[in-house]
Formats: sequence, C-alpha cells, structure tokens
Amino acid sequence: MAEVIRHDLIIVGSGIAGLRAAVEAALVSKGKLDIAVISKVQINRSHSVCAEGGTAAVLYPNEGDSFLLHAWDTVKGSDFLADQDAVMRFVREMPKQIYQLEHWGMPWSRREDGRIAQRRFGGHTFPRATFAADKTGFFEMQTLWGVLQRFDNVTFYPEWMVTKLIIEDGRYKGLIALDIYNGTLHMFISKAAVWAAGGGMRMYSFTTYSLTATGDGFAIPYKAGLGLKDMEFVQFHPTGLIPPGILISEAARGEGGYLINNKGERFMKKYAPERMELAPRDIVSRAMMTEILEGRGFEGPNGLNYVHLDLTHLGKEKILERLPLIREVSIKYAGVDPIHDPIPVRPVAHYPMGGVKVDINGATEAVGLWAAGEVNSISLHGANRLGTNSTADCLVYGAITGREAALYAMEHDDFPEADIEYLKQEEKRIFDNLMGRESGEDAYHIRRELRATMDKSFYIYRNENDMKEGLKKILELKEKFEKVAVGDKDPIYNSDLVYTLEIENMLDAAEVIAVGALNRKESRGAHARTDYPERDDKNFLVHTVVHRTVDGPKITYEPVKILFWKPIVRKY
Ligand SMILES: Cc1cc2nc3c(=O)[nH]c(=O)nc-3n(C[C@H](O)[C@H](O)[C@H](O)COP(=O)(O)OP(=O)(O)OC[C@H]3O[C@@H](n4cnc5c(N)ncnc54)[C@H](O)[C@@H]3O)c2cc1C
Repeated sequence: MAEVIRHDLIIVGSGIAGLRAAVEAALVSKGKLDIAVISKVQINRSHSVCAEGGTAAVLYPNEGDSFLLHAWDTVKGSDFLADQDAVMRFVREMPKQIYQLEHWGMPWSRREDGRIAQRRFGGHTFPRATFAADKTGFFEMQTLWGVLQRFDNVTFYPEWMVTKLIIEDGRYKGLIALDIYNGTLHMFISKAAVWAAGGGMRMYSFTTYSLTATGDGFAIPYKAGLGLKDMEFVQFHPTGLIPPGILISEAARGEGGYLINNKGERFMKKYAPERMELAPRDIVSRAMMTEILEGRGFEGPNGLNYVHLDLTHLGKEKILERLPLIREVSIKYAGVDPIHDPIPVRPVAHYPMGGVKVDINGATEAVGLWAAGEVNSISLHGANRLGTNSTADCLVYGAITGREAALYAMEHDDFPEADIEYLKQEEKRIFDNLMGRESGEDAYHIRRELRATMDKSFYIYRNENDMKEGLKKILELKEKFEKVAVGDKDPIYNSDLVYTLEIENMLDAAEVIAVGALNRKESRGAHARTDYPERDDKNFLVHTVVHRTVDGPKITYEPVKILFWKPIVRKY
C-alpha cells in the first residue's frame, strides 16, 4: 500500500506565486506549520523564470503616478471586465511587494541616482514597470528561493506531478501526485492548500510558454468540480519571435522599439495614434494581424507571416544594458542581431486572462483551498491583461493566499479524512488504463491536432463557424483520448506518461476556452469576433463561469464589480 503523506499546508506550484505563498506562510506560522511545496518541475524551472520585462507598481507618486491611475489603466486595459474592488486592492498592495523584495536582496535595475528604475509598458500611462534588466522573473524567483532557505519547516517535492485534487462536499481534503522520479502515486492530505499551478497555453502551437506550462492548473480543479472563469479571453502577445515563438518582451517597445510593415511604415499610427506601439496588447496584436492579413507583412516559414520590430535606432549601449536577453535570443533563434537588423515578430499565445474562480482573498469554491497567480481569476485582468501586472498579481496574491491558508491551517487541529479509494481509482486510471493498454490512440497525434485546431479557431480573430468546428474537433479528440496508450512502460522518469497526462489537461482547458468563446457573442478585449465586432455591455458586461457536469460544461454568468468607472469607448 502506497503511503499517505500529511502536511499542515500544501502549496502546489513553485513559480513566483507559489514561492511567495510559501514565504508568507512560513513567516506567518513562525515555525508552527509543516509546509510542503509540490512542483512538477525543478523548483526554479517554473515558467516564472521566463518573465522578462518587469513588475508593475506605483513607486513615484511625487512624479505623477498614483494608485488611481494604475487602477484606471488596468480597468481600461481590461475592456472594463476587471472587478474594480480587486484592482484597487492590488494596486495598493504592489509597492510593498517591490520594497519587500528589495529588502530580501532583489537586484532591481537603478536610476542614475541609485533609486529603483521603472520603464514604460503598454497601456500604462506612467512608466511603472519595475525591472531587473530583461530577466525580472528570474531574479524574483532567485530572491524568493533564497528567503525560503531560512526555514526548516518547508519540505520540497520537485518533479512531483499532481494528477487529482480531492474535494468532497465543497471541502478540500488532499490530492494525488505522481513521483515522476520513480513512477509511484501518492495521496497527500492537508488542512489547507494554495493552488499556484500556473496557467499555460501549450494547447496553441505558436506560444511563448515553456513546454511544461500545459494548463494542468485549470484542468485539475475543473475536474474536481471547481468553476473556471473568463477562460475565453486568451492574450496574444504582439511580439513572438519567428520561428520559435519565444517572447520578445514588451520592454523592447517600452525602451522605444518600432513596429514596421513591409512598406516601411510605423503602422500603429493608424490604430492607436497616441500610444502607438505602447497601446495594450490586444489592440497591437489585432493591428499586426490586420497588416499581415492585408498583405503588408513579410512571408515567414509555415505560414507564419510577420512584421518587423526595429530596435536599431536605440543604439548598441542601450540594447546591451536594458535588453541583453532579447538580443541573445534573437541572435540564437532567428539569426538576427537587433543592434543592426529588425527582429521578425508575430502575435503569439501568451497568457490566459481567466482561471479558477476565487473571491477577493483568493479563496476557491472549496473550503480550505486558495488559488494564486496566473491560475486564478480574481478578475484583475478582465478581458485583457496589461503587461507587468501578472508577476505583480503573483506577488500580491501569493502573499495574501499564503497568509490566509496558513492562518486557516493553524486554526484547525485535525486533518481531514480522505478515502484511500481515491488513490486506488487514480492508480487504475493511470497504471491500468493509460499505461496498461498495449496499443491505442497516439497522444502526440491528438496534441498536434488540438494545436492546429486552437490556432485556427481560437486565435486573434474568431467567428461562429470556425469556433463551432473547433469545439466539435476538441470533443472528437477528447473521445479519442479515452483510448490512448502510453508506449513507454518504464516507471522510472517516464516523460511519455507525464506528457500524456498533460495532453489530457490541455484538452479539458481547451474545451472550456471554446465553450466560453462561442457563447460570448460580442468583441471585448482579447476576444475579437468578426461576426460580433462590437462590445455589448447590455448583454455581456458579465463574467463567464464554467462548471463541469455529467452532461458537459455548464455556463453561468456573474456580474462585474463596477465601483468607480463605467465602461466608455476604449481608445488609445
Ligand atoms: C515568456 C514569458 C514572459 C513573461 N514576462 C512577464 C513580465 O515581464 N511581467 C509580467 O508581469 N508577467 C510576465 N509573464 C507572465 C508571468 O510571468 C506569469 O504569469 C507568472 O510568472 C506565472 O507565475 P505562477 O507562479 O502563477 O506560475 P508558474 O511560474 O507558471 O509556475 C507554475 C508552477 O506550477 C507547477 N505545476 C503546474 N502543474 C503542476 C502539476 N500538475 N503538478 C505539480 N506542479 C504543477 C509548476 O511546476 C510550476 O512550479 C511572462 C510569461 C511568459 C510565458
């Protein structure tokens, strides 16, 4: 019989949100809680290390920035779908997080006078992106990891993949996880947990995400009965490098880069005359796609036509100091040195605005379970997230949920009871079915088809027919998945099994994106429909919530919390 593992508090995910939650819980509990951090990848390989451009915060009110301005930029950027109470709380908390990281040793880039530097980012009226060159996430992760070394009551489970959450009658009880190293399944029980498993858009083929960011964070809670909110809003970042899709950070435009079509024009003047390249991402991505679709792009490999991101006028010194990673990546993966030549770029799947439904404290619909970071939907980003607001969200809500969950665990002496039958069912599903079948469907073929479907039907411009066809295809692929056989039968470090479990998660997340998108008959933020080109505040100024039922996904709608700003026409 496999062992049952108990910890007072479990944090799933070791990105910025998970590590920030762990630090907060360790501080709050003063050594009184036994805390575990579980991560599918090695702790510091979480996708957060890829964050490049910066983290938003109001640091210089005496120079013209303010909480209200940051909140307004976020709400307008969200196309008025953000909950304004969550936004206000977030902007107020953020500066504390920047200074806290500073005190823990974060090497923020500096102004000449030694104070923390900030730069411009799309949709922000004030330059409030706090950064460490173009490796901000990497240094934030290192700093939080460093702080965690102080505590001896935090146990790490690197390369353990959670496959199931145990939720019964609205109460979180524990989870099942695969020890990837030796291929054994284990049941964990805890008094409380923080779900910080990240998002991931690997269900698209052209994406900025690490290979491991496969949407487990959405699919696992969804299968356990929790609601997913606003999943139809997928952010396409304007500048994915051709051909690999690696992110060319918005910092490149923040530092003054231009977008140029094949006529040599800075075409953003037609679409956002004031903000130009620094309009919000949904607007810039649509502008780029319009240029490409109307023949003013450059021909790229495999139909990946593109436009140019020109940094040459910034000069060698600035590029080397502020954008060293961008330069390295462009040289290595596209053979282009941005000091001398423009970078080929195209909009790329980058971020899910939606996620697990939570309240303003990050509490999920299950008692004892909180969710933080990219995986949740506090409704901060609405229909379109502003750059640099995500790492910020991870820091603020990592801290809030870490504290809430730790306090809850300290107030409860007893562990919940969870039936060992859950573990047996999971063993049957994974070892008997997926691994046990001698032959069956090929999971990688399913993944290829899923990606082609998402790229075609749920990309920047959407319409009823394509989306209906796309959803039909996703359902067919889900059915096929029922007969998948994992070819590699070895228990030790079986990446074939891990990929297969991830593909199942991608299918579930894709289905929720699809049903949400089909039912939202308007254009708002990142959800742009050619058959409903206008925003429809009368019918769709609401959040989509999708729950799983035996009859398939069930959609309900919830009101948006509007405190200060009613929707107006969104122009930049
Ligand atoms: C290339 C890139 C650049 C970006 N740049 C910026 C930027 O400059 N500024 C900004 O604000 N935002 C940026 N973002 C967005 C931002 O970095 C992310 O939204 C944020 O870092 C996510 O952090 P997280 O802690 O929620 O999740 P992640 O960092 O994605 O971590 C998820 C964690 O969950 C674990 N996990 C997942 N599934 C399982 C499972 N089944 N079992 C166990 N563990 C699991 C993983 O192992 C990992 O530890 C960028 C994103 C990308 C992709």
